[in-house]
Amino acid sequence: MKKVKKLIVGNWKMSPASSVESVKIVKGILKNYTRFKNVVPVICPPYIFLDSVKKELKIKKSIILGAQDVFWETEGSFTGEVSLDMLKSLGVSHIIIGHSERRALGDTDEIVNNKLKTVLKYGITPILCIGEKDRDESGVYMQIVSNQLNEAFKNIPKLSLQNIVIAYEPVWAIGKNATREATQAETLEMSIFIKRYLSDFFGKNSIEIPILYGGSVNTKNAEVFLREGGVGGLLIGRDSLDPKKFIEILKIAENI
Ligand code: PEP
Repeated sequence: MKKVKKLIVGNWKMSPASSVESVKIVKGILKNYTRFKNVVPVICPPYIFLDSVKKELKIKKSIILGAQDVFWETEGSFTGEVSLDMLKSLGVSHIIIGHSERRALGDTDEIVNNKLKTVLKYGITPILCIGEKDRDESGVYMQIVSNQLNEAFKNIPKLSLQNIVIAYEPVWAIGKNATREATQAETLEMSIFIKRYLSDFFGKNSIEIPILYGGSVNTKNAEVFLREGGVGGLLIGRDSLDPKKFIEILKIAENI
């Protein structure tokens, strides 16, 4: 049976502070880069560094360029926004949509749905982030996640959704303010829940949509999430800015 490649996505968030530093990170990754057969690495720098990162990546086409967000309108007077044509012209093939940090800044379910529709129309792969803010004992977090999926998928033809990637990112496990890491059991439970949701949604034509886990992933816990968490890849924030750690996680994924 053909091995499904693991998608390892680095979300640089609002870092680093300069283009020179962004190039330094890519050079650091390329220095230790070996050929990966089982892994697809994606780097999502801030918009402003996409071009310089792309130029560095030119020699390693196997590393994919992604963006952290996009505007849903494709043209018009929208000061400060970035369109899909702009990202496409830079070679972006994946776009993170609905990251909890964007949702906290005002991206409603409706905005996430609009962005998803536009991204899919352009044939770019959306990485849709979902995840609850808190865990409760009565399982409300599952309802929250399925509501996020319902709202995100609203009025989108099933056929076009086949190109989507889902990233389960419990908000309480993300970033410097994380209360704790998710356990392997919690990740497995949610990945099964999401797979079940997707199979109900797609019905007979159920397809394999990659599910990623994100939230304080590091070189110590990456293997457990990949081996026992039921996911097909990872979305990594802080540790993706450290070339050595990012490469180490790629190597861990390669050997699973
Ligand atoms: C993220 O940015 O999506 C993320 C999971 O961040 P971190 O790995 O730093 O928790």
